Amino acid sequence: MAQKIKRGDTVLVIAGDDRGTISKVKRVFPKKKTAIVENVRVVKKHMRARQPGEVSGIVEMEAPIHLSNLMLVCPHCSEPTRVGFRIREDGTKVRYCKQCQEDIDE
Ligand SMILES: [Zn+2]
Repeated sequence: MAQKIKRGDTVLVIAGDDRGTISKVKRVFPKKKTAIVENVRVVKKHMRARQPGEVSGIVEMEAPIHLSNLMLVCPHCSEPTRVGFRIREDGTKVRYCKQCQEDIDE
């Protein structure tokens, strides 16, 4: 299965507490079908310094969110969109926006 959402994408959160938030994908875990999105599902974690230089206290971290709760925001038309795939003449697979039909990948 080709990946619809990749690191660096701008996404809209469509479910959960952060619904309506538009932010950037920091990491994708394809096997778990989850992603870490900037400032989405922020959880506070209590950390204890184990090594010199580490900070102890409360650290804010983003928890993974399921990919089905995210929608890609097209860089061309700026609309949340469904993603399609097409093969270029050189054989590379690219994602495209089903709204404006523009390629999302370079
Ligand atoms: Zn578009």
